[in-house]
Amino acid sequence: MSINNYNDIIQKPNKELKKVGIMGGTFDPIHFGHLVIAEQIRCEYNLEKVLFVPAGIPPHKTEVKISESKHRYFMTLLATITNPYFEVSKIELDNDEVSYTINTIKKIKEIYQKDTELFFITGADAVCELDTWKNVKELLHSVNFIAATRPGLDSSVVDEKIHELEIKNNAYIRKINVPALAISSTDIREKIKKQQSIKYLLPESVEYYIYKHGLYVHRGETIVRLG
Ligand code: ATP
Ligand code: MG
Repeated sequence: MSINNYNDIIQKPNKELKKVGIMGGTFDPIHFGHLVIAEQIRCEYNLEKVLFVPAGIPPHKTEVKISESKHRYFMTLLATITNPYFEVSKIELDNDEVSYTINTIKKIKEIYQKDTELFFITGADAVCELDTWKNVKELLHSVNFIAATRPGLDSSVVDEKIHELEIKNNAYIRKINVPALAISSTDIREKIKKQQSIKYLLPESVEYYIYKHGLYVHRGETIVRLG
């Protein structure tokens, strides 16, 4: 090997990009459906970490009453604390503006600079509504977009929607099959209102946090611990 070649090898810059996953959601509350898709995608795409980003004021939920951001942030922290690859970001919680994903991604890109490739994680239901998001084309070109399967959605309908979005935006959306967990935050909130058990739908620490703070029950109602 000539000296020149040897120098080429040792001075070659490490072009390998760091891979970071972004898991956005209202997380009101966070549950095992969220955690399982984040972990499966982390492993499948060899991600260095997954950043959970609780939504500030989600554009699609402005009419709906959501829990205070501090509660959603703490529940997300509690749920992710046992996974060394999971982190929680307050990036959308530090201001009162409606949080558009494209703006969040721009801010995250500024933080991570150019040596990081971002993987945006969503469930298939969110992908089906992507048309209503702000600057979809720009968003799809800024990150690797991954759609995880979600029970209750017809796979062929999702595939068709993904195909339509890809053509319209000249972009590529990855789809991944994850173990199906038919869990939703809406269902958990409903169960709490009806004083039904939410055990095994979400981490126990989050369940305890919900009871401790009386979340999702009307003020004045008795909170009953189940199970
Ligand atoms: P809500 O019922 O209040 O809308 P949710 O359970 O859908 O709550 P979100 O915080 O809206 O939870 O979801 C955040 C992201 O996680 C979305 O991309 C959503 O598609 C995905 N997601 C949520 N639950 C599941 C699940 N059980 N399987 C796959 N993806 C899910
Ligand atoms: Mg949802």
